[in-house]
Amino acid sequence: MYKLFFFFLTVSSVLAKHEDFFGHTLYEVKVLNDNQHRYLDEVVERFFLDKWHATYTGQDGLILVPGDIKEDFQREMIHAGIPYEIKSNNIKEQLDLEDELMAAASAKMNRSTPGLSFDVIHRYEVVNNYLQRLANSYANVRVESAGKSVEGRDIRYLRISSDNFQSRTKPVVFLMSLLHAREWVTLPASLYAIEKLVIDVRDRTLVNNIDWIIMPIANPDGYEFTHTNVNPHVAAPGKNRARNAGWSMCPGVDLNRNFDHNWGTASSASPCTETFHGTGPFSEPETQAVRNVLNQVRNRLELFIDIHSFGSMILYGFGNRQLPPNALTLNMVGVRMAQRIDAVKWSNKRNYRVGNIVDVINYRASGGSSDYVQSFGNLLSFTYELPAYRNVANINGFLVDPAFIYQAGMETWEGIQAGARYVLERRRMAEAK
Ligand SMILES: [Zn+2]
Repeated sequence: MYKLFFFFLTVSSVLAKHEDFFGHTLYEVKVLNDNQHRYLDEVVERFFLDKWHATYTGQDGLILVPGDIKEDFQREMIHAGIPYEIKSNNIKEQLDLEDELMAAASAKMNRSTPGLSFDVIHRYEVVNNYLQRLANSYANVRVESAGKSVEGRDIRYLRISSDNFQSRTKPVVFLMSLLHAREWVTLPASLYAIEKLVIDVRDRTLVNNIDWIIMPIANPDGYEFTHTNVNPHVAAPGKNRARNAGWSMCPGVDLNRNFDHNWGTASSASPCTETFHGTGPFSEPETQAVRNVLNQVRNRLELFIDIHSFGSMILYGFGNRQLPPNALTLNMVGVRMAQRIDAVKWSNKRNYRVGNIVDVINYRASGGSSDYVQSFGNLLSFTYELPAYRNVANINGFLVDPAFIYQAGMETWEGIQAGARYVLERRRMAEAK
């Protein structure tokens, strides 16, 4: 009886969850020149639209438009001469479908696996409990809190080290995901790396000769919010949950514009935008938490990867198009990582592109995590943009295809390993001199 009641409760809450999205239309737009680019940005800002994919010349953008703004939006596109195509007339259907697929995957989940399964996107509590379990079971694993989020959630990370971080010389590799809350498919990439470094180790040298820091959920408030309440007008789907002035309408700071590198020079000062940079560099507890961990390992840090989605790209600094002194090495290692991923990727996905962020996507950004880390000096700092999940039919963007979760973890690990192996190779060469 109770079971039945809860069953109906669950089903009805799932069905109700996406009501806010009813009639939302997903547009693909083709920007032909810089003027159109600027015009589109202005329209997006004016109507508080949700950009699912950065738009630039040669790269189609995806923009989610509420039903009541559709006519205005189309009129603006025609006025500016920007070609558009409707990819989904009612995104709610796709979101409901995603839920159904997730629920089906969850029902047949194999609970006997020692790690977390790769058929669903796990919630914050599940991930935290898992990290704790690993720390309890493996002597070389510790779980720490980097600090608390705006809403008081611990920002947990794993330390994996054969000597409990006692070495003063061993290289450190730092992986981070879900700084942008809605980029769900980045979580399996972190979880897969953890599995391959703790439970199912195939290459001992990676574990013995490198100290690893892995922070799977860098923005826990934003992440939980995207699971429980998604209304693009107020949700700020990538940001944290900062109480900005007048925050009930426009909460949140884009944490990847809040780091202290060229802060505020290529980001938004308006709280209602998706790229709002906050009230100052490191104004947010989440970015402070990441900074604290970075500071502990700063002189040993050799590789940093901030995992985002989407677009199949490996990007390096700086976000103002200035190249770091070691740009040649960054490019070489980036290409190695991309080739390893491309070798195992799904054939319907595009090949990874590698380069300076502005060169690759013609988009300037300031205050990003990987730029901040790159400013430390001669180390390797990258932003990964994982593939879009279903670049088939008319579903795209941040939605997660359960069938792709394992693949996302597996293929991204190929790239991470290539980077980590380069770090060890460089060490060996330096020591041989
Ligand atoms: Zn992102």
